[in-house]
Amino acid sequence: MVDYTKILQNLEFVNISTDEFTIFEWKPPRSLKSYILDLNVVKQNPVSNIFFHLSRGNMKIVHIRLENLIYTTGSNTEIQFQLLEALIEQVSKVFNETYDIDSYIKYGNFSTTVFNPFKEEINKIIKDFNSLDLVNEIMVPCRVCNTVLPITVKRSFIENSESHPVPLVYIHKGHAILCFIDKNYAVRGVELVNITG
Ligand SMILES: [Zn+2]
Repeated sequence: MVDYTKILQNLEFVNISTDEFTIFEWKPPRSLKSYILDLNVVKQNPVSNIFFHLSRGNMKIVHIRLENLIYTTGSNTEIQFQLLEALIEQVSKVFNETYDIDSYIKYGNFSTTVFNPFKEEINKIIKDFNSLDLVNEIMVPCRVCNTVLPITVKRSFIENSESHPVPLVYIHKGHAILCFIDKNYAVRGVELVNITG
């Protein structure tokens, strides 16, 4: 069993923003990373309901716009993007269960300090991550690396998919493999794919 709680020690920040300003921020005590410039880039993206990935030096950033809020998280390169996505999905779920955010935004005149207690919720999500059962690890052979790679897959990605097997591209060490995953997390095929962009 993979210890995701331990992997999540590589997190650098979790940020929840409106288009105007940050309403909530969590950072581990050791983190000195600044991501303000990256957050400006994130806010300029108007697309909703799609996860976006950024690589910034030795930092990985994932963001998504859901209704009125933008959720962003960053880590060092030790965490796979699917794990960061799963974390954001859980953070957004618990945040919306905890706060009637639409009312806050509609009313407008609120202090962001009301969300400070949510830092404890983030710590709890990280601590309980293994038992939340939000991700699975699959083992996929790569014929370029000549090894079997552990790949983190979000459960919501597999379970919400309209058809199976679902394709997932794993970019690593300058190349990429495309793997097809069925409902039971079995790998049904692996291809080496070309990348451009
Ligand atoms: Zn490889």
